[in-house]
Amino acid sequence: MRVDHQAEGIHLPDIDLWLDAREPVGANWISHAHSDHARGVHRCTYGTPPTLALYRMRVDVPEDARLCALAYGDSVLHGEAKLTAMPAAHIVGAAQLLVEWRGERLVYTGDIKLQRPLCGVETRPVPCDQLIIESTFGLPVYRFLSCEQARERMVAFARECLADGATPAFLGYPLGRGQEVVYALRQAGVPVQVHGAIARYLPVYEEQGWQMGGWEPYEAKAGKGRALVVVPGMRAYLEASGRNVRVAYVSGWAALSNARTRAGAEFLIPYSDHAGFDELLALVRATGAREVDVVHGYTEAFARILRAEGIAARGITHATRQAQD
Ligand SMILES: [Zn+2]
Repeated sequence: MRVDHQAEGIHLPDIDLWLDAREPVGANWISHAHSDHARGVHRCTYGTPPTLALYRMRVDVPEDARLCALAYGDSVLHGEAKLTAMPAAHIVGAAQLLVEWRGERLVYTGDIKLQRPLCGVETRPVPCDQLIIESTFGLPVYRFLSCEQARERMVAFARECLADGATPAFLGYPLGRGQEVVYALRQAGVPVQVHGAIARYLPVYEEQGWQMGGWEPYEAKAGKGRALVVVPGMRAYLEASGRNVRVAYVSGWAALSNARTRAGAEFLIPYSDHAGFDELLALVRATGAREVDVVHGYTEAFARILRAEGIAARGITHATRQAQD
C-alpha cells in the first residue's frame, strides 16, 4: 500500500490513516506517548489503553474527542483495513501497528526494542510485506546491555555509593527510563526518591502490573541514604548543591565513547528503550519485509545496510523529530 511521508507525519492514503501525526488530522494512530509521537488533537485517535491514558495526561484532549483503545492483540476495522496492536517494548503502552488491507500486510513499529525491557511486554516481530521502522540507534556502534545486566549495574552502583556515604543520582527522561530505573532499584530493595516529573507516570506502570512499591517523592534536603531518580536537567543543580552526589547516566547514548563528557556523568550504563543496531537488523529480517521505510535517526545509513541485503529500503528524514531515548 502507498506510504506518504509528509510534514504532518506518515500517511497511508489508501485507507486514510495517519501514523504519529504531529498536526491535527482525521484518523491517527499513536504508537506511544512520548511527546514527539503523541501530539495534537485528531478527529479519531487509535492507541493502546496506557498510551491513551498518558496522551490525556500530556495533551489537552477535549472530553468528547473520539479515542479508540486497542489492547495488545486486539483488532478493529478502519474502513476496509484491519488494524491490530502488537507490543513494542519501548515504554509502557508502546505498540506496533499491523495494517491488513486487500491481502497486504504493513507494520509500523513506532519506537521499538527487541530485547526484553526492565518493565514492559516483550516484542515479537510481526511478519509483513512492508515495514516502517525507526533507526534511532541504527549504526553498529550502538550495542546495549540486556535488562538483567543493566539492572545489576544500576543496583551495584547505588549500593556502592550508599555504602560510601554518597548519594547515587540516576538521570532519566520523565517517561520511560525514569520508571524503569525506579522499578529496578525498588525490586532490589534500594530506597529511592523520585522526581515529580517521573513520579507522575508511575501509577500508569503500576496499573499494568509493574509494582514500584515504597518509593518516596524527591526532597531537596532529605535524600541521605537514598538513591535519586531525577530528570537530566537536575544534574547541574545536584552537583552545585554541595552534597556528595555521584551521577549515573542510563541511556543508549552512553554507548558512545564521548558519552562521559557529553552527559557529565561518572558512571555510564548503555541501556536503552530503543533497539540497538543488532536488534534492528534482527527485527527487519524476522519480519520478512521486502520493502522497508526507515524513519528517525540514522535513516539513510541504516537503509543502505538493508539495501545491501537485497531489501528495497529508503531512508526518510522527518526534520522535526527529536529522540526521547
Ligand atoms: Zn519514544
